Amino acid sequence: MPAPGPPEIVFAGRSNVGKSSAINALVGRKRLAFTSKTPGRTQTINFYALGELARLVDLPGYGYARVPQAQRAQWRALVDSYLGSRPHVAGIVMIMDARHPLTPLDVQLLEWLGERRRLLLLAKADKLTRAEQAALKRKFADALLFSSVTRQGVEECRGLLESWLEPPAEIKSPR
Ligand code: GDP
Repeated sequence: MPAPGPPEIVFAGRSNVGKSSAINALVGRKRLAFTSKTPGRTQTINFYALGELARLVDLPGYGYARVPQAQRAQWRALVDSYLGSRPHVAGIVMIMDARHPLTPLDVQLLEWLGERRRLLLLAKADKLTRAEQAALKRKFADALLFSSVTRQGVEECRGLLESWLEPPAEIKSPR
């Protein structure tokens, strides 16, 4: 893995949930400055630099339900070795499909990612009606409805991630 540097914002989600599209929508670029890859046997963690400010860490898509147990164990080992070695995880963006939020796989993934600052993105929100969106908002008050297609939620998400990067207020010693 690359040497620790700027704070890292981690993106996680099931395969095909819209993770790559969300990262591209947030960063506003099709091609990110690619810094390094950490391959596992079948999967790779990609690190992208946002200048000196931050890094985006793209965890491998967590498999479909039919993925064999051994492969899930590999996924977990790779992610554990990442999380266990990084001093500067600013937070985790967990991406779920707005049409099927909190599937059993999502729940397992959240457990593995542990108690950290996190943001739940309900991706592909454009596939929902207004009424469905309103119902989701009530059910998941702290989640953000998001669409890479309509750009719903993009600015709000950026603002939240920027707030994760702000240095803690300086503690001034009394004179
Ligand atoms: P990843 O595997 O999680 O990185 O998912 P991708 O970003 O590659 O997207 C998977 C599929 O979902 C692709 O066919 C995308 O075009 C589609 N997709 C991604 N984001 C959205 C979205 O916000 N709305 C809609 N309607 N489709 C999306």
